[in-house]
Amino acid sequence: MMFNFDREKLDKDWDEFADLIGSPIDGDAQFLSADFPDIISWIEHGVAEGQKHGKFRMPGLHPSFISGSSCVAAYYHHYMNAAKPNFSNGVLRIFDNGHALHSRYQRYLQENLYGTWKCESCKVLIGANSKYVSWMNSRNSASTLADLKDTTVAYQSDVPIARPEKCPECGGSMIYHEWRVINEENGIVGEIDGIVKNSRGDFVGLEFKSVNSRTFKKFQQREGDILLKYRKQFAIYLKELDIAYGLFVFENKDTQHVELLPVYLEEELELVEPVYELVNKVNLFLLKGKIPKVSYNEDCSSCDFYRGVCDPGR
Ligand code: SF4
Ligand SMILES: [Zn+2]
Repeated sequence: MMFNFDREKLDKDWDEFADLIGSPIDGDAQFLSADFPDIISWIEHGVAEGQKHGKFRMPGLHPSFISGSSCVAAYYHHYMNAAKPNFSNGVLRIFDNGHALHSRYQRYLQENLYGTWKCESCKVLIGANSKYVSWMNSRNSASTLADLKDTTVAYQSDVPIARPEKCPECGGSMIYHEWRVINEENGIVGEIDGIVKNSRGDFVGLEFKSVNSRTFKKFQQREGDILLKYRKQFAIYLKELDIAYGLFVFENKDTQHVELLPVYLEEELELVEPVYELVNKVNLFLLKGKIPKVSYNEDCSSCDFYRGVCDPGR
C-alpha cells in the first residue's frame, strides 16, 4: 500500500503542534528540564554506582588486555594495576551490555554449560577452580577479602562441572559462574565466557559477542583488527585450558540471528606466540623488580599508562 501524505498539511500541523508544546524537538532545553525528571544524570549515577560494586578483578595478566597490546611496559603496568582506566559513561554502558549478553547466553545454555556454579540463595560456589581457591587462600589483604565476602567456596574442582540440580548446601537454584583461568607460573588470569562438551565428550570453549551485520561479514572473511584481537584473546584461553577448539557465538544486533565462527587453537598458535614472548619477558622484569624501559611506539596514543605512569616521550 502506498501512503499519500499531504506534505504541506503535515508541516503546518507540526508547526502548530510545536508552538503548542514548546517545540522540544528544536532543543528547547528549558521545556525538558522543567517538565521531566533528569533521567540522564540518574542513568549516569547508576552506571557509576554499578562500577563501584563491579566484579573483583584478579591481579595478573588478563587475556582481554594482553591480546590488545604489544608493549612489554604496558604488560608490566597492567600487572601492577598501575592506572585505573578512566572510561566514559558511554564506554561503561558498552561493557555493561557485554556483561548482560554473557549472562543472557549463560542462562540460555545453563543445561549444557560446564564451569563453576553459584547458589542464588546462599551464594556458595560449587565447582570453583581449585587453583583459584588456593590463590584466594594464599592472600589475606583486607580489600581482597572484602571483595570476596559474599562468596564462599563449598566445593572445588580441577575441571569445569555441569550444573548441579540444586544447591547442595541450601537447595537453592544455581546460576553459572564463569570458570576461572589461573596460571600460577606465567601470571595469566581471567574468565572464559562458557565451556560446553561436544558429542565425543571434549570440552569446547565459547566466547559470546554482539556485532552488527557489517562487522560479521568482515569476520566471516577473517578480516578486521577487532577480530584479530578477539581471536588472540580466545586462543589464549584455549591454550591455558588446553582445549583444542572453541566457537565464537555472535549475536547479530541488526537481525538477532545467532552466528557461529570456529577457532582452532592449532591454527592460532602463530598469532599468540608474540603474546607469550611478551608474557615471558614481563615475568623476568617482575621477578627482578625492574620496570621495562621503552620508547614511544604505535600503542602509546591509546595506552592507559601514557600519562602519569609511563611517560615515554615522543
Ligand atoms: S605509554 Fe607506550 S611505552 Fe608506555 S606502556 Fe603504554 S604503550 Fe608502552
Ligand atoms: Zn545455597
